[in-house]
Amino acid sequence: MTPMTRGWSLPVVAAVALLLAACAGAPQRSPLAAWSPSPNHDARQAQLIVLHHTQMASFDEALRTLKSANAGGRVSAHYLVAEDGRIMQLVDERARAWHAGIGRWGALTDLNDASIGIELDNDGTEPFAEAQVAALIRLLDDLCTRLAIPRTAVIAHADLAPTRKADPSAHFPWARLAAEGFGEWPRADAPPAPEGFDPVLALALLGYDTTDLPAALAAFRRRFRGMDTAPTPVGSDEGAVPVAFDDEDRRLLFDLEQQRLGR
Ligand SMILES: [Zn+2]
Repeated sequence: MTPMTRGWSLPVVAAVALLLAACAGAPQRSPLAAWSPSPNHDARQAQLIVLHHTQMASFDEALRTLKSANAGGRVSAHYLVAEDGRIMQLVDERARAWHAGIGRWGALTDLNDASIGIELDNDGTEPFAEAQVAALIRLLDDLCTRLAIPRTAVIAHADLAPTRKADPSAHFPWARLAAEGFGEWPRADAPPAPEGFDPVLALALLGYDTTDLPAALAAFRRRFRGMDTAPTPVGSDEGAVPVAFDDEDRRLLFDLEQQRLGR
């Protein structure tokens, strides 16, 4: 008998042990089943990384919002990166942070379930700080290595919710990330798209929900051409992007499609 349990009845010790286990994150088991553990399993894993800008005036305000019951609904992210490069982790990587909301990317429809969310302290109108981008690149390298997420599986919040979101803004340096191998990126010397190429199919193959084509094209142009256009409000033509793809859209989409097809 150890000093800790001396004088304690077995049920009390068991109850304390159970409580401690609960505090540490109790394993989820059914009371209906006998536990007969198998070693043949691994942890559920995120499949992609979603980048955001906080659209707030300060880091402290963003941190408060990501941890509180704010009026617009509770939100969070796994990570928040400050302008000076500090990285805060707010949610366990195995848990679902509430950052993506309703959206779709390829076959994925529950993006909170499928992704790691990273918020960048930025008000949406300013360039991203160098120290912040450098810290983000270090964090992406760490996440992709540890969690076995493909380096190309880094997308914008607006990519998965083009009718609702426009973050991160056109200031975000996607080309810089691509130079480090993160995110899909068209090759500089990509040729023009051939006759008969279908840009809508290529957008969908990348992952975009093309149900609202102007919104999907706006998100694509923000991400791959640095052209910032707000999502078109429902029932309004204000700020609408013409659905007509221009030659540069077609060239970039053709090359991205070719890369997806391993060509
Ligand atoms: Zn966002």
